[in-house]
Amino acid sequence: TEISPTLQPKPRRLMLLLNPCGGRGNALQQCHTHILPIITEADISYNLIQTERQNHARELVQSINLEEWDGIVVISGDGLLFEVVNGLMERPDWEDAIKMPVGILPCGSGNALAGAINYNAGFDQAMGSELLLNCILLLCRGTVMPMDLVSVTTCSGARFFSFLSVAWGFISDVDIESEKYRHMGSARFTVGTMVRVASLRTYRGRLSYLPVLDAHRPISRSITLSPNGNLSPLKSHVNGPEDDLLPPLNQPVPKSWVTVEEDFVLVLGIYQTHLGADLFTAPFSCFDDGLIHLFFVKAGISRTALVRLFLAMEKGTHVGIECPYVVHVPVRAFRLEPLTRKGILTVDGERVEYGPIQAQIHQGLSNIISG
Ligand code: ADP
Ligand code: MG
Repeated sequence: TEISPTLQPKPRRLMLLLNPCGGRGNALQQCHTHILPIITEADISYNLIQTERQNHARELVQSINLEEWDGIVVISGDGLLFEVVNGLMERPDWEDAIKMPVGILPCGSGNALAGAINYNAGFDQAMGSELLLNCILLLCRGTVMPMDLVSVTTCSGARFFSFLSVAWGFISDVDIESEKYRHMGSARFTVGTMVRVASLRTYRGRLSYLPVLDAHRPISRSITLSPNGNLSPLKSHVNGPEDDLLPPLNQPVPKSWVTVEEDFVLVLGIYQTHLGADLFTAPFSCFDDGLIHLFFVKAGISRTALVRLFLAMEKGTHVGIECPYVVHVPVRAFRLEPLTRKGILTVDGERVEYGPIQAQIHQGLSNIISG
């Protein structure tokens, strides 16, 4: 065993992954002016790595030695953490790797998880450098909490692990179409929302979900005898926990599920309180409640009502608004089958292939540095 020269506890070792292209592109500057001075003061030892391209972080975490780090922290928006989570889940030792505490210092345009961490800590809702400072302080304090991940399967069979959201329609359109206003920082979403409201679209689709009350009944699976004679379920994926609530995408959903076919303005599965630093979308959500909060807005809602919904979301008061076009159900799993031919689907704000998609929650699979 290692003998410490002093009685001081060892400093925490954090891997800091910085996306120079996140948000307005000033993450490196933020890092030098705000982040590094404080964490140095807090006696945290770190390696700062700048990502050079998309998927760089995802590849990097696949080969790190887990023993060498106490946490991986992204200095970016939610997109870079999505890479880290999926990189960890792609490792053969995913079961250990995904327990590595992950954190976020908001320097992107989509800073939903930072908003959720800030709220969980009891701070007032904040944006920009105020939110960043709160998150730096919480990172220094360093409390780690379990956090749910959602396993998302798309039509080609690709599987992602998601910590934030699955979106279709209005929200994913705004997210992707507003990329061109990236220089505005998070204001890009406000502008994008106005543009989308002005030319409101609807999408036809079939949405099926497993409401929480029925969630204790996993679907039956074929079982085989393992060499030692114990019963073991057939593994459908190499990595990650089995999706015991989901039949394959080409098979019907179990009878206990609810199915609606509608013209939708939007469908959103969210498992954090915030969809953006100033979008308090699911106030009742917790990091490890094991719930997907499924929201959908049906066609027929007026533009005014839709704008009112998004404005109220800033304070979280939209949940009290009675509107027959807006539905919220807590679920453990859902499947979305778009019937409109073209559209955009996002997972944690990142575009994924368009087509049938399904998801199930895995309670407390990851660990978040929540402060
Ligand atoms: P934002 O909130 O501003 O969108 P993200 O952290 O979500 O910031 O990053 C946006 C996208 O940039 C993500 O898809 C991420 O994978 C990608 N990315 C990460 N590093 C780089 C890089 N060095 N160059 C270009 N894109 C990158
Ligand atoms: Mg993003």
